[in-house]
Amino acid sequence: MVNSLNELAGNIHIHTRYSDGSGDIPTIAGAAEKAGLDFIIITDHHHLQGKAEEGYYGKVMVLVGSEINEECNHYLALDIEQPVPGNDHHPQEVIDMVNNQGGFGFIAHGIEKGSLLYRNGKTYPWNDWRATGFTGIDIWSYLSQWRDEITGIPKGFFLYFNPHYAFKKGPMKPLLRKWDELLRKRMVVGIGCSDAHAIKLKLGPWRPVLSDYYLCFRCINTHLFVKEPLSGDFEKDKAQIYQALKSGRCFVGYDFFRKTTGFNFVAKDQGKTALMGEKIRLTEKTVLEVEVPEAAKIFLIKDGRKFRETMGKRSRFSWLGKGVYRVEAYLPHGRGHRAWIFSNPIFLE
Ligand SMILES: [Zn+2]
Ligand SMILES: [Zn+2]
Repeated sequence: MVNSLNELAGNIHIHTRYSDGSGDIPTIAGAAEKAGLDFIIITDHHHLQGKAEEGYYGKVMVLVGSEINEECNHYLALDIEQPVPGNDHHPQEVIDMVNNQGGFGFIAHGIEKGSLLYRNGKTYPWNDWRATGFTGIDIWSYLSQWRDEITGIPKGFFLYFNPHYAFKKGPMKPLLRKWDELLRKRMVVGIGCSDAHAIKLKLGPWRPVLSDYYLCFRCINTHLFVKEPLSGDFEKDKAQIYQALKSGRCFVGYDFFRKTTGFNFVAKDQGKTALMGEKIRLTEKTVLEVEVPEAAKIFLIKDGRKFRETMGKRSRFSWLGKGVYRVEAYLPHGRGHRAWIFSNPIFLE
C-alpha cells in the first residue's frame, strides 16, 4: 500500500572488544547475519578504532560510530571521521563538535531507573534536556531497561532466563513522555538500541552472558526505509542508511516473537504522501494509514496522548486535527498483548 521504498532492519549501539564488549567485529557481524539484519552500528566508547573494519560482511553492513561521555550524558555520534572528546558537564559541546564534523547523533538511554544489583543503583542519564542540535533519542534501550527491571537476585535469575519479560510493556513511559514533549517543538528521531556488550560473567561454575549479541539482534531493532535498493557499494549504501536515520524514516520494532518487517505509517492527501519524519498540510481529505505484518492492537498517538485505537492489519484514520501523530502497535501474545512497534511521527500542519 504505502510506499515503494526498501526496508532495512538494523541494530544500533553495540560494543566490541575495542571497548567493554567481548566480541570482535567479524564475529558480531556473523551474529547479525544469522539474525537476519541488514546493518549494525558499532559504538565503542570514545574512539573510532573499529572504523578501519567498516564494510560489508556477507549481507550485513557494519557501520562504526562512537559513544561519548562517561558518567552521564551518553551520546551516540554517527558519521564522524575523527573521535570527539567527551564532556560530561557540557553535552552541548559534544553535540556541536559532532555536528561540526558533518556527523549526527542520538541521546542514549536518556532516562534510567537503575538497579541496586548494579553498582548500587548507578545510572547514566541525560541531564541537559535544554540541549539542542541532536538528531534524536534512543527511545527503547535493551541493556538499560533489562538491568533496571532487576530488583533483586531472584528477579535477576528470572530475567536472565526470561529476558523478553522486561520489554513486554514497551519503552519506559518517562522516556516516551520526554520524546513526545520534545516532538511538540521539532522533529526528534526515535531509534531503538541494544547497547549489546555480551558481558561474560563467572559465577562459580556458571558462565552467564549478559546482552548477548545474537539475542540482542533479535529483540529491539531499528527498521528504516531507503530510496534505492542496496547496491553493494558500501559508501553509497551507508549514506542511504544515515539519511534515513537523520530524517526519521524509521521505526523501532521488537522482532523476537514476530518480525516487524512490513510495518508502515504514512499520511496521504490527494495524491501526496508524507512518510515518517515528514510533515504535510492538513485538509479535510488527509488520512493516516497504518499497516502491520500481523493483526495487532494499534494506537494512534496524537501530541503524546492516545487518540484512536483499532485492531487489525490495516487501519485508516480520517477526521484528524493538526498535531504530531505516531503509532504504537501491540502484538497479541498469550492471553494479552506485548509491545511490538513504535513509529516515528508524522506532522499534520
Ligand atoms: Zn551508554
Ligand atoms: Zn553503550
